[in-house]
Amino acid sequence: MRQITCPICRQALPATASESATFPFCSERCRDVDLLRWCKGSYAIVEPLDPEQVEVMQDTPQPGSLDDYDE
Ligand SMILES: [Zn+2]
Repeated sequence: MRQITCPICRQALPATASESATFPFCSERCRDVDLLRWCKGSYAIVEPLDPEQVEVMQDTPQPGSLDDYDE
């Protein structure tokens, strides 16, 4: 059976984790981190971008990319 890990900190979760209120995260803290990522993503879309900001974003690796779930 595949080991379940927290998508935020990659800590291995116990078999009973699916019954936890914070599943699939290991803790409330990691759940909040995931929420924050979504919030920041929304802000990035809502805010108007000027050319200088776009250049900065292209030079910076995006946090919370799909690579986090690629295992
Ligand atoms: Zn975690």
